[in-house]
Amino acid sequence: MNTKLWAVDKGDPIKYSYPQIMEAASLLKENEVVAFPTETVYGLGANALSDQAVLKIFEAKGRPSDNPLIVHISKMEQLTELVDNVNVPESAHQLMNAFWPGPLTLVLPKKEGVSQYVTAGLETLAIRMPDHAVARALIETSGLPLAAPSANLSGKPSPTTAQHVEEDLIHRIAGIVDGGATGVGLESTVVDCTTETPMILRPGGVTKEELERVVGNVDVDPALFSQEELHKPKSPGMKYTHYAPIAPVYLVEGSASFMEQTIKEARLKGRKVGVLATEETIGQIQTTEIIAISCGTQKDLATVASQLYDGLRAFNATEVDVIFSETFPRTGVGAAIMNRLEKAAGHKFIK
Ligand code: AMP
Ligand code: MG
Repeated sequence: MNTKLWAVDKGDPIKYSYPQIMEAASLLKENEVVAFPTETVYGLGANALSDQAVLKIFEAKGRPSDNPLIVHISKMEQLTELVDNVNVPESAHQLMNAFWPGPLTLVLPKKEGVSQYVTAGLETLAIRMPDHAVARALIETSGLPLAAPSANLSGKPSPTTAQHVEEDLIHRIAGIVDGGATGVGLESTVVDCTTETPMILRPGGVTKEELERVVGNVDVDPALFSQEELHKPKSPGMKYTHYAPIAPVYLVEGSASFMEQTIKEARLKGRKVGVLATEETIGQIQTTEIIAISCGTQKDLATVASQLYDGLRAFNATEVDVIFSETFPRTGVGAAIMNRLEKAAGHKFIK
């Protein structure tokens, strides 16, 4: 398949890139799949009302069919077409008012009409309103709610640039809308609003602390803290290994000098070592002949979130056979960063 590429203005795509947006929207209306930027990561969009279109997403990504998709909307009127409004709790409305448009996905009771493949047979639908002009222009111009998982091959780190999407999906999808690098860099926070107390199923761009300021107590799916298969996560996607580069990743918990010691031991065993760490840690490592990739600064974990996937992917262009990653405090956006790193590492720690 020939994959079309459109470079668009991310500030005001309707004004400056209308022909490109129109062409991408027409393909979506023809039930083709098109990748586009959001403020979290690049999404792989398709008409959420069409079985045929949604199945193409699963096929292009190699995504397991029991892993449901998030539907993206651009205005509140679309919500009533998709979810059973009578049963949407007050807490969900408060969260929408506070965080939409933005990196928050709400799981709500679904209405008929949405493709059964979007929800993987569940009675609930995950839905969000992205805060990115290009995503919103495509939803509005196509007039469709767009089902859109991250635009990567299943299991790989999510894409934060159009080049990452190309690496994984060129010739597998109809088009890629290039609106530059994404902002947050990690996927949305998924919150189940069908339970008495809202429950975080996947940590992400909106933190638990921020949610609690709006709705009071928020639970966290216990499966997120456990690596055992006993706990079945409520968010089906959380059970798969994810976000992983080719070489194995180990999470090194401790000071910069412990990182240095870990690197030296691996070098003695003849390993080609990659290090993913903040500029502070990299600045303290003296061992040479390693590939060190910086992922932001300890002073602002938002920089780590936005550079994490690019850093993980970058090792695939190197010869490293092991990757040591710094670890982070699990508060604020650190909770989402550590969730993704643990999955990339298959929960392997060096302490
Ligand atoms: P992705 O689209 O790749 O960002 O992944 C979407 C995430 O949302 C996955 O972890 C899914 O399992 C989760 N998800 C989507 N729909 C639902 C739902 N109805 N209930 C629970 N989790 C969901
Ligand atoms: Mg994904």
